[in-house]
Parts: sequence; C-alpha cells; structure tokens
Amino acid sequence: MVYKIELNKRQQKIIEIVKDHGPITGEQIADQLDLTRATLRPDLAILTMAGYLDARPRVGYFYTGKTGSQLLTEKVKKIKVAEFTSMPVVVQDSATVYEAICTMFLEDVGTLFIINKNGHLAGVASRKDLLRASMGKQEINSIPINIIMTRMPNITYCYKEDFLLDIAHILIEKQIDGLPVVKRSQNESGLEVVGRITKTNITKAFVELAHDEIL
Ligand code: ADP
Repeated sequence: MVYKIELNKRQQKIIEIVKDHGPITGEQIADQLDLTRATLRPDLAILTMAGYLDARPRVGYFYTGKTGSQLLTEKVKKIKVAEFTSMPVVVQDSATVYEAICTMFLEDVGTLFIINKNGHLAGVASRKDLLRASMGKQEINSIPINIIMTRMPNITYCYKEDFLLDIAHILIEKQIDGLPVVKRSQNESGLEVVGRITKTNITKAFVELAHDEIL
C-alpha cells in the first residue's frame, strides 16, 4: 500500500465539491467533474474509507470535516495489540540461567517469559538480568532462572484486545522493552502467555501506518 496523506488533485476536488454541495450523490459529483460514476468510484471509496467523506445510502456523500492528522490520530488510537503481536519465547522456571542465555541467543529475542510447571506466567528475564547473573560469582550452570527473574505479581502484561498506544505508554513509563500478551487459563488459576509486544512491534506499527494507503 502507498501512503497518501497527499490526496491527488481529483480527490481534493471531490472533497471541495462535497464540502460545498453535500449531501450529494456520486452521480452528481461525477456530473460536476464531467466524469463517469465508474471512474470516480475508486476515489470515492478511498475518501470514504479514509474518513474524509461519509456515505449514507440513498442520501449521498457528506464531508466529515476531519483533517488528515485527525484521521491519522484516530487510526493510531484504534490499533489493537492483536494486530502486531509476535510469538512469545518462553522458558521453564526450572531452566538454568545458562539455558536461558542459550535460548535468548537462539531465538534472537531480548526478553524471555518464564513459565511454571502449569504453563502459567511466572516471570520475565531481560538481557540485563542475564548479564547481571553472569557477572556474579554464582555458577550460571546451576542457578535456576527463577532466582534471578522479575516475578509475578510484579509483571506487567497485556491482553490482545488492549490498545497498542496504551502499551507504548506503559513501556515508556515502566522503562521496559516488552510485555507478555496473556490470556486467562481455562480454570482461571493463572495466565497463559500467547504473545509478545516489544518496542520493535511498536516501531513496525509506526512504519506500517506510514505506508498505509488509506491513512
Ligand atoms: P534490559 O534490562 O535488558 O534493558 P528491560 O528494560 O526490558 O531490559 O528490563 C528492565 C527490568 O525490568 C529487568 O529487570 C526485567 O526483568 C524487568 N522487566 C522487563 N519486562 C518486564 C515486564 N513486562 N514486567 C515487569 N518487569 C519487567
């Protein structure tokens, strides 16, 4: 998709016509531009989907009065975690720090989610947690990861239905790189890790927005 915050000339003209004469039918807009209704259809679809125009059946097109930046803000606020979540990388709480380090390298992530024997979220281990553990005098082959991880209930997590913008605020405020995306387990006794949201996902969302054809 190609980003078009710059609408083309014809689209701008359509907006002007609807501003001045709305509600106005597609047929009437086409007449004013000396074009066929079919030629205008894609432009009208784009302008409606982007939120510049509103279409009501049997009445016609209205101008919504929203600017490009207002529409962009609305769109940013609507993005849900589910649209940008990645696969989580989880490690059992019985694993050693050494095994956790190997997983972090192999899976190429910066944050590991630690689960207990029931498969529920027990903690988080970040790069620096593992570095810190490696710098001490302890033997990383024998210390379990659950000794050094940040543990529940101090874990910040989110759900697929949450808004990505809220998560971005949380990451900044808590100064962390990522959050586990969870769902309640069937018997409600814990949280299952179903995804991962990191600063990288949010960067991807940002780039995708800039390439979105319809704002
Ligand atoms: P790093 O420490 O490698 O820079 P972070 O900034 O993400 O990575 O982590 C900082 C600290 O916060 C670490 O001790 C880590 O265990 C903890 N942490 C990371 N993510 C979370 C989270 N979602 N909830 C609670 N604590 C977290």
